[in-house]
Amino acid sequence: MTKPALHLVFTDLDGTLLDHNDYSYERSLPGIRLLKANGIPLILVSSKTSAEIEILHRELGLDDPFVCENGGGIVFPGKQGSPARLETRGMSADSLAAHSGLLTEAAGTDVRLFPDMSLDEIAERTKLDRRAAALARERSFTIPFLTSDGSTIDLDAANRLLADSGLAVTRGGRFYHFGAAGADKGRAVVRICEVYRPMAGGAEIVTTGIGDSENDLPMLRAVDRPVLVRKPDGSVVGAEIEAMITDGKGPEGFTEAVMQFFA
Ligand SMILES: [Mg+2]
Repeated sequence: MTKPALHLVFTDLDGTLLDHNDYSYERSLPGIRLLKANGIPLILVSSKTSAEIEILHRELGLDDPFVCENGGGIVFPGKQGSPARLETRGMSADSLAAHSGLLTEAAGTDVRLFPDMSLDEIAERTKLDRRAAALARERSFTIPFLTSDGSTIDLDAANRLLADSGLAVTRGGRFYHFGAAGADKGRAVVRICEVYRPMAGGAEIVTTGIGDSENDLPMLRAVDRPVLVRKPDGSVVGAEIEAMITDGKGPEGFTEAVMQFFA
């Protein structure tokens, strides 16, 4: 008899599990509860910092690994009282900041990096309170930024220029993110699957990934069942990916996808 498959669900946070505007997970809860009831790990994969994700991870009562700063770090919670373990890849935020000149060249316009922004500006742009904004500013592996003139960056062209230096840019719901090439959400998915492999005990691992933005596309390419949720204006990114596209926006789409696969 073949063993039942081990399911893993990877989800983006902002604009997917959390509402883009008020960061509420209320409409994700039916989906989260269904996964918990079925013992299916829910792995948070975000451009947020580990300090930010830790709070949500605890609130939701999860004990699975989570991915911070777009794949720059993976946190494996400690079992039975042992401390959490952080696995890092890529480059430190300080080394990244030293390459800001190259980033400007790649972006084709002046950029405003997170470290250049005051706490008040970050709070205003993210709609987070000052305490949450302070946690968002504590970057270790990636630097969020905006173009100074609000212009849109051609990501493919920018990444061609950055590749020789091992650097990359991607785009989330609110900001661009500057980081090390290859330290993306997709690599993090592959790494986490490796960690779960022994637990699967020879059974197949079936992965589902749910996201809403360009920085989720590497994750969606790495999973068996990619899902794109709609953005607040109803649009969807990543037309080149063959994914389930939800009717619902953000957290509503998250629950819709979970119901479709696991109810
Ligand atoms: Mg998002």
